[in-house]
Amino acid sequence: MERFKTIDTTDIAAFEAVMPGRVLVGQAVSEDYSHDEMTEYGLFMPEAVLLAQSAAEVSAVLRYCSGRHIAVTPRGAGTGLCGGCVADKGGIVLSLQRMDKVLEVDTANMAAVVEPGVLLMEFPKALEGTGLFYPPDPGEKSATLGGNAMTNAGGMRAVRYGVTRDYILGMEIVLSDGEIITLGGKTVKNSSGYSLLDLMIGSEGTLGILTRLTVKLIPLPAANMTLLVPFDDLDLCVRAVPSVLACGCEPTAVEFMEREVISASEKYLGKQFPDRQADAYLLIRIDGPSAAALEPSLETLTGLLLSLGARDVLLADTDERKAGIWDARGAFLEAIKAGTTSMDECDVVVPREKIAEFMRCSRGISRETGLRILSFGHAGDGNLHLYALRDELPDSLWHNRRAAAMNALYAQARVLGGQVSGEHAIGHAKVEYLRSALGERQMALMCAVKAVFDPAGILNPGKVCGG
Ligand SMILES: Cc1cc2nc3c(=O)[nH]c(=O)nc-3n(C[C@H](O)[C@H](O)[C@H](O)COP(=O)(O)OP(=O)(O)OC[C@H]3O[C@@H](n4cnc5c(N)ncnc54)[C@H](O)[C@@H]3O)c2cc1C
Repeated sequence: MERFKTIDTTDIAAFEAVMPGRVLVGQAVSEDYSHDEMTEYGLFMPEAVLLAQSAAEVSAVLRYCSGRHIAVTPRGAGTGLCGGCVADKGGIVLSLQRMDKVLEVDTANMAAVVEPGVLLMEFPKALEGTGLFYPPDPGEKSATLGGNAMTNAGGMRAVRYGVTRDYILGMEIVLSDGEIITLGGKTVKNSSGYSLLDLMIGSEGTLGILTRLTVKLIPLPAANMTLLVPFDDLDLCVRAVPSVLACGCEPTAVEFMEREVISASEKYLGKQFPDRQADAYLLIRIDGPSAAALEPSLETLTGLLLSLGARDVLLADTDERKAGIWDARGAFLEAIKAGTTSMDECDVVVPREKIAEFMRCSRGISRETGLRILSFGHAGDGNLHLYALRDELPDSLWHNRRAAAMNALYAQARVLGGQVSGEHAIGHAKVEYLRSALGERQMALMCAVKAVFDPAGILNPGKVCGG
């Protein structure tokens, strides 16, 4: 017996009655809806795509689907990297992309209320002139704020400012039976019972559908500086990170990068990286109220980094130079993807002091499995992105080597006290790694939570908890 009901013409007519002209079926469903940014994890065409424009519509659809046991997969911009927004168990994809309004910018409470489909790259425009900003800074700017909230997205500025979770004050959620609830609000503290808000953040659409979001804003720092720091090798480079974090300069971002990835980015963008003298670099950004206020930090960091073996400390002091470096960094993932036939990704996070050890192990895993593994990452928070590349390997070799490499990388992260995902979340692709990391008891607790919110199991089935 099918686990979920297959959609028929009666269902389509019911959806049409809720969202006239916004129910896509057959040829009208673009292939884009069958995957996210990691096609390696499979292509799954949904039976229908529904383009929601209001919480009331989402509520009506969920009420209908829960009564008939139809699987519902919410989707933002589809930029995820673990198959979270694909309908791999059939049913409908419910797109929230058209709910894209900034509803309120409340400068007095330093908060904004938005619909979930607002794009990360559009949001700053609504804040112009307020002197406030929204710090979460995930690399893919065409992602939605809703997708960011439901994956607890990270990004480069997390070192100083924290991740998406730290900026969510409230949510409007449609539960699986269609009831609409409000969690949190504009208050900045809250000790009122279990935090269902925190449970919802990062729940990947498995507990409810986000239809409105209240986010925290902070004063926009007037000045920033970027330091590019070349090292002879990656080991020396990442070993410098704990001291950089402890020196009192509060860096905004601390990224590491290697020559091979920089070269891929140069090729992809058709632009030269501003420095070619080293195999490994730290990229550091500091923020402050004025350029003058940043001078002491600059001095401290320069002295410290040189004492830790840096070849040089290069200051990017013009907008053009800063853009040259950060554009190259921003293109790493796409550049790696463009340079191979297919790839698998590992987004582990380890205690910061273990980064060097993890990177040494990953090189050993690359040698043992015979796979090219490229990496870059958020050195400042221990979040590493490693890409196992297929290149020209035939199916059988690729699948075996890839499984061996991924198992070894996740096992190594576990040994070092790390976690399966630092920011890209679990989707359907990482469920078994999560199970190995957390064990059956913790998985059972999570599944029990899921069953309370979604007793029929129709919300994004197969994601996070598996099944
Ligand atoms: C080049 C590139 C760089 C990236 N860099 C980063 C980075 O630096 N940091 C980072 O964290 N991620 C990064 N990502 C991953 C991705 O952009 C994030 O996971 C992002 O949060 C996904 O947002 P989205 O709108 O595309 O969501 P989708 O991919 O559409 O969905 C992601 C998950 O959220 C659920 N979901 C989406 N909207 C809702 C909703 N309204 N209600 C309930 N559930 C919902 C989906 O079901 C799915 O499980 C990157 C991706 C790419 C391609």
